[in-house]
Amino acid sequence: MEAGQDIIYLDYNATAPLRPESVSAMLPVLRTVGNAASAHVLGRNAATAVANARQQLAALLRCSHQELIFTSGATEANNLALHTAAPTCGRLVVGSVEHPAVLDAARALSEQGHIELTVIGVDEDGLLLLDDLRDALRDQRPALVSVMAANNETGVLTDLDTVAKIAHEAGAILHTDATQLVGRLPLDLSVLPVDLLSLSAHKFGGPQGIGALFIRRGLRVPHRPLLNGGGQERGWRAGTLNVAGIVGMGAAAEAARIKMDQERARIAELRDRLETAILARVPDVRRNGHPDRRLPGVSSLTFPGAPADAVLAAMSQVAASDGSACSSGALEPSHVLLAMHRTAEEADSTIRLSLGYATTGDEVDRAIGYIVSAVEKVRRAMHVI
Ligand code: PMP
Repeated sequence: MEAGQDIIYLDYNATAPLRPESVSAMLPVLRTVGNAASAHVLGRNAATAVANARQQLAALLRCSHQELIFTSGATEANNLALHTAAPTCGRLVVGSVEHPAVLDAARALSEQGHIELTVIGVDEDGLLLLDDLRDALRDQRPALVSVMAANNETGVLTDLDTVAKIAHEAGAILHTDATQLVGRLPLDLSVLPVDLLSLSAHKFGGPQGIGALFIRRGLRVPHRPLLNGGGQERGWRAGTLNVAGIVGMGAAAEAARIKMDQERARIAELRDRLETAILARVPDVRRNGHPDRRLPGVSSLTFPGAPADAVLAAMSQVAASDGSACSSGALEPSHVLLAMHRTAEEADSTIRLSLGYATTGDEVDRAIGYIVSAVEKVRRAMHVI
């Protein structure tokens, strides 16, 4: 990582560093002119590069390249999925710990009178209350269900097979925000029956500002684009294609696919090492999220008596997050932790450490020391110990 070589980066859930494969793939594209819609040779070259990247992304997801619509990221993909599928269903069922790109879009659709909104809670471990989902869908009315594959704050994984079964048995359509899962854990859309799926390149080592929406072939949803214009992406998303971004995403998808098994095992081991050491050395720490059913690289820890902003300020050598980066700056405690029955005070004393493909054992060992002493320092200042 160039900027901030001395900083230990443990904020992969906010954004991951660009993979070298992604940089190498993008550089020649950035140096070349060409609109993928142009008929001349430079345009055709750009279109070929886009087609190749679409195949690379499809190979990671095990879907058809024809089922992918490129967007500016997961926020747009989530909004497109909801705006397209929810109003025709008339009903939208979402999880309570969804990212704001789903929750706020859902609330907006509800306030505009387009849908009836139902929110399904989670248990103390962050797992979706499947019986509540079953109950909500019992009347078999048409509905769009939108449930995230992995939570950005805790890493907790949703049992998507079961959610899909419940949704489909009730005749509902299923969308999943898989932004935190794609490229980190296997996801096989040839067997996992979700209908719509959102992703973002910058979480798996591609560039920021590019993502995709998977729309399963044959899914009956109205053609309702958010952006109208030049008819790109079969009219689903107008706007000149971000060729370099798409190529960078494709290369990152390929690298993530090839290295996934080895990376996920290594990252899980490092996360466990980090967590075990902190739990052993800091008194009174609470781990958030189901201990096994979570992403390999995430650790959400509550340090009672140590406000997260003070802890982060006391360890400038470590880049981590207090809850989700997208809502940091907002004064409210994390809606995810509140939904998991944590108090506002506990939520405000919670730090998210997220590791990724380039995290090293040496970084983890040094981070442990910084984190332990930062918490001790803040607690001492707060007269707790
Ligand atoms: N969904 C989830 C679960 C996320 O973590 C994020 C990024 N924080 C988003 C959606 C939004 O993604 P993007 O940055 O691509 O708009």
